[in-house]
Amino acid sequence: MTKQMNVKEFRRVVIKVGSSLLADGSKGEIRREWLSSLAKDIADFRAGGREVILVSSGAIAVGRGHLGMRRRILKLEEKQAAAAVGQIRLAYAYQELLRPYQLTVAQLLLTIGDTEQRRRYLNARNTMETLLRFGAVPLVNENDTVATEEIRFGDNDRLAARVAEMASADLLVLLSDIDGLYTADPHLNPSAERIEMVHEITREIEGMAGASKSDVGSGGMATKVQAAKIAVNAGCHVVIAAGNTQHPLSTLSDGASCTWFLAPQSPMTARKSWIANNLKPSGRLAVDEGARDAILAGKSLLPPGVLAVYGNFERGDPVIVEDGDGCEIGLGISAYSAADAQRILGHKSGEIAKILGYRGREEMIHRDDLALS
Ligand code: GLU
Repeated sequence: MTKQMNVKEFRRVVIKVGSSLLADGSKGEIRREWLSSLAKDIADFRAGGREVILVSSGAIAVGRGHLGMRRRILKLEEKQAAAAVGQIRLAYAYQELLRPYQLTVAQLLLTIGDTEQRRRYLNARNTMETLLRFGAVPLVNENDTVATEEIRFGDNDRLAARVAEMASADLLVLLSDIDGLYTADPHLNPSAERIEMVHEITREIEGMAGASKSDVGSGGMATKVQAAKIAVNAGCHVVIAAGNTQHPLSTLSDGASCTWFLAPQSPMTARKSWIANNLKPSGRLAVDEGARDAILAGKSLLPPGVLAVYGNFERGDPVIVEDGDGCEIGLGISAYSAADAQRILGHKSGEIAKILGYRGREEMIHRDDLALS
């Protein structure tokens, strides 16, 4: 018997809020009462020492209502225009409703490239980390006004999973219009049963979620299960729960029905095995004995410990770390290009800005980005 899971046990939580929860019907008005109950839940989470990242849809739904766009299916440019109007209203509503709890909202608009191209991924990850360190609540949405079809996530379930992966979150909450995954579509099949806990996302589980409705864009159980797959692989547990009640998070932690997807390993272990198993090195950094010992003790690699730079790599590329005799120590993601690494090797971090003309990271490779061999 698996122990009872509770959303309150997690450290860094991504909460995905869907359009239908936030925006009312065709007018697209923001459901403020509901949102303020969510704000209270978020404040409680934060007061309990947890970090919260919001991934919120609703920009298009709110914007189209405000602009009076009546067509049922909008053209891409209409969606983009609607998002431009809706996003600002949405962000304002979150800011206003979180303000009474002294919580600052920080808006991040991402495209698929920001989560898939390593350099941009690294930038977005660092910004997210900094915002959390300063106590802000990141509010993420897809950058719908610039994302064209081929560079769109399309649905915020997948975006939320990528954000969870990027932030090394340990829990992703997908607030939905249904309280979890059922063995069949419960609207069509009254004998369908809710699954309590998923230990592995098998074909059978994917089958229960039905066919993928990617052209519809958002929603659907299939996109949620696909999102769960991404998050679980990144070491992040996932819970799908009904969001359409007031105070959806406290309702959930009080034991409301839901479906859990369990991650087999922690976000950090998952990240390190992803680095070790999936990245092809594009260069090498030779380090001195002191740096080698520090790395083996779980520390970051700093510029003073680097003896030589080999290969041609960019910031964000994977590089092998080896000792002075060429023995491999690990594989990590370099925070500097080969050219810049060459210029700052052997120098203290305080000197980096003067040498390069910009203030980069203190570490050549951060310990979270370094997998030991
Ligand atoms: N990014 C879209 C919006 O904010 C929504 C995508 C989705 O609902 O999954 O309107």
